[in-house]
Amino acid sequence: MCSVPIEKDEGCAQMLCKRCKHVFCWYCLASLDDDFLLRHYDKGPCKNKLGHSRASVIWHRTQVTFPGIRDAVDIPKLKVNPCPRD
Ligand SMILES: [Zn+2]
Ligand SMILES: [Zn+2]
Repeated sequence: MCSVPIEKDEGCAQMLCKRCKHVFCWYCLASLDDDFLLRHYDKGPCKNKLGHSRASVIWHRTQVTFPGIRDAVDIPKLKVNPCPRD
């Protein structure tokens, strides 16, 4: 189990573990590794919880997939969740 603590960026529910590259939902911890378009937030308990507009989804995915880009932006950290990957 990975369980690395992960800081949540303001306004976004899509999380990335920097150690195992696992992408998951902040709220229900569901895997988003194969959900490139984030359809997870189109329905179900996490509907509309992504926290930013649909138009920015692809850009955001680029940010979380390439931490170098992400780290270049100073984003306030709010809280920490452990990576749920087994
Ligand atoms: Zn992990
Ligand atoms: Zn969810």
